[in-house]
Amino acid sequence: MFEAILIENGPEGRRAGLTRLEEDALPPGDVTVAVSHSTLNYKDALAITGRGPVVRSYPMIPGIDFAGTVVDSASEAFRPGDRVVLNGWGLGESRWGGLGEKARVQGEWLVPLPAAFTPAQAMAIGTAGYTAMLAVLAIERHGVEPTSGDILVTGASGGVGSIAVALLSTLGFRVVASTGRPQEADFLTRLGAAEIVDRAQFSAPSKPLGSQRWAAAIDSVGSHTLANVCATMCYRGIVAACGLAQGMDFPATVAPFILRGVTLAGIDSVYRPQADRIEAWSRLARDLDPAKLALITREIALAEAVAAADDLLAGRLRGRCVVRIA
Ligand code: NDP
Repeated sequence: MFEAILIENGPEGRRAGLTRLEEDALPPGDVTVAVSHSTLNYKDALAITGRGPVVRSYPMIPGIDFAGTVVDSASEAFRPGDRVVLNGWGLGESRWGGLGEKARVQGEWLVPLPAAFTPAQAMAIGTAGYTAMLAVLAIERHGVEPTSGDILVTGASGGVGSIAVALLSTLGFRVVASTGRPQEADFLTRLGAAEIVDRAQFSAPSKPLGSQRWAAAIDSVGSHTLANVCATMCYRGIVAACGLAQGMDFPATVAPFILRGVTLAGIDSVYRPQADRIEAWSRLARDLDPAKLALITREIALAEAVAAADDLLAGRLRGRCVVRIA
C-alpha cells in the first residue's frame, strides 16, 4: 500500500484527497520509483482544485514532477538505488503523477538527479525552475548578453518568475521584476532584481507598439501582459512565453514582429527532448545560487497539498512549494 493524493470524479462530484492505494493499482511502466519529494506547480493547483482542464482521465494522482529513488527497474538505463527526477511527460494530466509515495513510469522519461542537488532541492527547482532555465537558454541562444539591456520577468513572485530572476541576476543581467505584490519587493531584490515594477502597467489592453524597453523578457502570465510585453520590446528582442497566469488569450497585433523583428519563443517543458532536459538541469546546477533557492522555497507535507493548491491560485504563496513525501 502507498499514500497519495487522488482526484476522483464520480456521481457525487469531483473530490481530491489523501488516500491509500494498492501498489498493483499503479499504471504500467518499466521503472518504479519511491518518491521522496514532489512540488506544487500552477498546473497541479489547477488539477487539484478543478479550476482548469488539466486532468484528462480519472482517477488521477496529480503532480507533474517528482524526485525519488528507483526501487524496481526493467530499464537498461536505471537500477534500484538510482536517484532520479521527472518533469512533465503528461504526469498529473493523463498519467499518474508525483503526489504519492510511489510512481511507475517509463525509464526514458527520467533524468538522473544531478549530483549538485538533494531530492528536496531538485523539487524546490521543480518544473517551474526547469522551465525558467529553458527560457534563459532561449534568450542566450538568441544572442542576448548582459550588455544588451534590461530583461523583464513577469509573474516575478511566482515559481517560474522567482527562479528566472535568481538565474538571470546570477548570470549578470539587469533584471526588472514585474509583480502585483509590492510587499514582495524586498524578496525580489534579494533574489537579484535591480528594479521592481507594478504588473498593472501590463495587464490592461495593449497598444500595437510602445517605447522600446526590454532586450529580452520571460513571461509566465500571457494575455494582455504578453501583448504589452511584446509591444515594448527593443528592436530584435526576444520574449520567452511560458505561462498563462493572467489568461490563455493573446490580444496582440503583429506590429512588434514585423516592424521591430521581435521573436516570440514558445517554451514547452512537458515533451521537451531528453538532451534539452539534461542541458537545463546541468545549467541549473552551475548557475542557480543555492542560497537564493532556499529563500524561494517552502516545504509542506503531502496531506497539506490540497489546501495549498487554493493558496497558490489565490496568489498567497510566493516562490516554490516543495511537497515532502518520505
Ligand atoms: P505561480 O502561481 O507560482 O506564479 C504565477 C505568478 O503570476 C503569480 O505569482 C503572480 O505573480 C502572477 N499572476 C497570477 N495571476 C495573475 C494575473 N491575473 N495577472 C497577472 N499576473 C498574475 O505559477 P508558476 O510560476 O508555477 O507557473 C506560472 C505559469 O507558467 C503558469 O501559467 C504555468 O501553467 C506555466 N508553466 C508553464 C510551463 C511550460 O512548460 N510552458 C511549465 C511550468 C509552468 P506576482 O504576484 O508576482 O504578480
